[in-house]
Amino acid sequence: MNIDSITNGIVIDHITAGRGMLLYDLLGLNNKDCSVALIMRVNSRKCGKKDIIKIDSNISVDFDVIGYVDPNATVNIIRDGKLIEKRNIELPEKLTNVIKCKNPRCITSVEQELDNIFKLTDKENMVYRCIYCETKAKIGK
Ligand code: ZN
Repeated sequence: MNIDSITNGIVIDHITAGRGMLLYDLLGLNNKDCSVALIMRVNSRKCGKKDIIKIDSNISVDFDVIGYVDPNATVNIIRDGKLIEKRNIELPEKLTNVIKCKNPRCITSVEQELDNIFKLTDKENMVYRCIYCETKAKIGK
């Protein structure tokens, strides 16, 4: 499957090599009823190796999740076989129910119906903290 074979869908490009799988998981793509291709360690002239995710369906994806996993990724939106939008991703200020707090004493561990909310506290180092207990979250953990 290449970009030309997608009629309606999304291509997430320039994902840092090795993070494609994590993004695939966090986006819940294994539970979606559509064809998805996860292509890992592709040679890229721009950034060495990269991962690519191609979704051959018109589903909506959570841009905050993409931004959290890799703010340098680009999202190409394909409609009727044409690239209609190329979107740059930014590091989100807030994450709601993307990751879970690892602190067993955190209120979100006790009150299961509470949203897991993390705020970006250090943009340079991409550090997120739980808004309830301030436990740090790191990419991939
Ligand atoms: Zn917490």
